Amino acid sequence: MAQKLIKLDTKSYEHPFDAKALQAFKILPGADKVTNFVMNWATIKWLTIQLAGSNFHVTKNSCPELFKQVKNIADILDLDRLPEIYTEWGYFVNAYTTGYDDATLLVIYSGAIDLMSEKELNYIIGHEMGHIKSGHVLYHVMAQKFAEIVANFSLAAPFIEPLCLALNYWVRMSEFTADRAGLLACQDLDAALKSIIKMAGLPGKFFSSMGKEAIIEQAKEFEQRYGGLADKAIKTISILDDSHPWTVMRAAELVKWVDSGEYEKVLNKYKGKTCSICGNVEVQDASECSVCGNMDKWI
Ligand SMILES: [Zn+2]
Ligand SMILES: [Zn+2]
Repeated sequence: MAQKLIKLDTKSYEHPFDAKALQAFKILPGADKVTNFVMNWATIKWLTIQLAGSNFHVTKNSCPELFKQVKNIADILDLDRLPEIYTEWGYFVNAYTTGYDDATLLVIYSGAIDLMSEKELNYIIGHEMGHIKSGHVLYHVMAQKFAEIVANFSLAAPFIEPLCLALNYWVRMSEFTADRAGLLACQDLDAALKSIIKMAGLPGKFFSSMGKEAIIEQAKEFEQRYGGLADKAIKTISILDDSHPWTVMRAAELVKWVDSGEYEKVLNKYKGKTCSICGNVEVQDASECSVCGNMDKWI
């Protein structure tokens, strides 16, 4: 059972490229105006209504098992509000988050639920919650809307395109942060890498025989062949317009984070300590139990 991370602060694990790339987007001329325009667009609200009307809504009563699993992960990552949970038919090993303002929706593909072990699914759900926790959802929806504008309104394209590229670059960087949240949720590098292997396309018939070594090896090879994960290399790749994957690169970044010792540090800092008198859990540096006042008896 993964440990709850008490008052987990996103700053402690966010990938440095993530914040840098979002800042670079925000200061582009016109970024603020376009952001407001796109976000006030009724289609975004329509998207959430559509989901509510078409997809299976997971609640405490409709699907208690899955609801409990999602709720547990929200607790582990100290997410302050649970998103609305839906499932969507599709044999993708994936999930996504969408929404606007305070209506955040987490959509899990049925394939992810059927094809993943519990821990692997925890990783995927934790990844999405990482996006929610870091406030990525608004900009992800925006990146999709930008792509639609560029495709459908050619007059707007020259103005939107630079913003679009900057935003797409950031979307990739935000994946690194969300992957770290996924690992903090499942607290098992093996499960995280296995879920990445499945996302990268390993066929179901080989699931039982695969090991994480395969993806680590591929990631190392990728790094050697393409000059590592230097800022420049990622930038070049990010100009390509397909969304998400780059799964091997993401696996490499995750392994690097664990190898650096930073992952362990975050776990230790936020795992908290349990009061041996009343069972309440406090942050690691709390001087006393806020329930019973105990000062020195901790587990
Ligand atoms: Zn993501
Ligand atoms: Zn106590």
